[in-house]
Amino acid sequence: MIIDILTLFPEFFDNLYNYSIIGRAIDNNRVEINCTNIRDFSKDKHKKVDDYPFGGGPGMVMMPGPIYDSINHVRTEDSKVIYLSPQGKALNQDIVNSLSKEKHLILLCGHYEGIDNRIIDNYVDMEISIGDYVLTGGEIPALVLIDCITRILPDVLSREESFMDESHYNGLLEYPQYTRPREFNGYTVPEILLSGDHEKIADWKRKESVRVTLEKRPDLMNHEK
Ligand code: SAM
Repeated sequence: MIIDILTLFPEFFDNLYNYSIIGRAIDNNRVEINCTNIRDFSKDKHKKVDDYPFGGGPGMVMMPGPIYDSINHVRTEDSKVIYLSPQGKALNQDIVNSLSKEKHLILLCGHYEGIDNRIIDNYVDMEISIGDYVLTGGEIPALVLIDCITRILPDVLSREESFMDESHYNGLLEYPQYTRPREFNGYTVPEILLSGDHEKIADWKRKESVRVTLEKRPDLMNHEK
């Protein structure tokens, strides 16, 4: 998969290339991530990319020209253009799973009061929100999207790190996890996990997954796949 980020703050993504599983996925050519500075496409001699909103109102709006040119600079036949926006579809694992099958994602990060709506209406395939609150820019949402997509790409996680059991993948939350020591401040781990009986352990995990989901997120139970 190729991911192109369009942003006014490319330096925001500098650490991405060395970061944990994403860094490894880049090194192993599972994903290619490029960053384009929208400001480079400003035709203004001061490299201006924003202007006052028509009709008045607070703040500045990102102008359509530099965004349009930066999209065209990276767009191919396989591209899906995503605008990170508080007005978008709320991100969930189903959306992540489906986006992970795309060949090329273009992630458009807004700033200030947002972007000229003609870009959204005519050149964006999908708007995605990471939650019902407003952030300063689309950079953090883009990082969120890159992280959750990259980790489920083929051959990114090892078998031991598999995401299949993880929360949300099959519609449930994950069972509780424990590690050494067996006893911590007087608290022990469930005896069954130390039994070595793989069948019983698998059964315990399934039941705990349902119990935890009912307890913490009962709303998910109706959506089990
Ligand atoms: N004026 C816009 C509104 O009320 O809908 C909000 C603009 S926000 C301050 C600036 C940028 O941050 C947006 O263009 C978008 O790219 C990004 N952003 C803010 N909140 C977001 C969210 N919850 N999910 C995804 N992107 C978000």
